[in-house]
Amino acid sequence: MSQEDCLFCKILDGEIPADIVFESDSAIAFRDINPQAPTHVLVIPRRHIATINDLEAGDRELVGDLYLAAKQIAHMEGMADEGYRAVMNCNAGAGQSVFHIHLHVLGGRGLTWPPG
Ligand code: AMP
Repeated sequence: MSQEDCLFCKILDGEIPADIVFESDSAIAFRDINPQAPTHVLVIPRRHIATINDLEAGDRELVGDLYLAAKQIAHMEGMADEGYRAVMNCNAGAGQSVFHIHLHVLGGRGLTWPPG
């Protein structure tokens, strides 16, 4: 179920190139074009969901899949033990700019808290 004007649906459809690092039946992950850390990967569901606010009870497994992908990616990138962050922004006030949910997986440097 892809949305015509969605950048990440276009990546899923192969219309826009991306450096894909992980693929499963429910999700893909690719490197962020403007990385904020040595490793910055975005994990997205294959199904278009605009924001966290659009999640429904039936999406439980899908959201779990995104985090299991993040765990795998952290191991692949060698940052699982050191530490990493897996976060999702919701709506413009939190910095969401692409309205297809995505988990930012960031690591490879020290990360401070709270984020800006
Ligand atoms: P957010 O601001 O949370 O919606 O995150 C969107 C992310 O998508 C940003 O970190 C952007 O750098 C990233 N981004 C935008 N366009 C692309 C693209 N074509 N390929 C990879 N990452 C992208």
